[in-house]
Amino acid sequence: MRVRIERMETLRDLSDYTAGFRDEKRILGYCISCPRYGNYWSCPPYDYDPSEIIATIVYPEDVSASVSVYDLFSEAREITDPEILGMEAEMPGSMAFYAGSCRICPGKCKRESGAACVEPDRARPSLESFGYDISRTLSDIFGVKIKWADKNCPPEYISLVSALMFR
Ligand code: SF4
Repeated sequence: MRVRIERMETLRDLSDYTAGFRDEKRILGYCISCPRYGNYWSCPPYDYDPSEIIATIVYPEDVSASVSVYDLFSEAREITDPEILGMEAEMPGSMAFYAGSCRICPGKCKRESGAACVEPDRARPSLESFGYDISRTLSDIFGVKIKWADKNCPPEYISLVSALMFR
């Protein structure tokens, strides 16, 4: 185990969280410049309306974890992704959101070649891909400031925000 995880959790009313932290037009504007946009089934644009999915859910629980070194991001996701998916399995009607885009397939997502998702039972979107502001979620709810890497220096820590929305 190379990562050191600092775990923070909160329970929020989904309506309040959506009203205060979802800015779909602005956040998805950032997604458009990402190479994963339109090339990952777990990334926008979706063939469904995220607002309709959110409307079927009532209360969210956010789980975040900070790791100490940027290049340990994958290792941290190997811990947090199954964890949040396991919580979803224990709570019928809930929906898990990963801390970033899907990492299940090695290399590229099958969407890029026009093929269907090979792991629809495990692939999940991220909160940001549904238009939630992760920077403000971290600062306003958890009091955590996002640290950015520069070319030569990894950040002091990385923050991952995954979530479980449930009835
Ligand atoms: S499981 Fe594979 S095909 Fe499905 S969204 Fe993830 S990367 Fe894409």
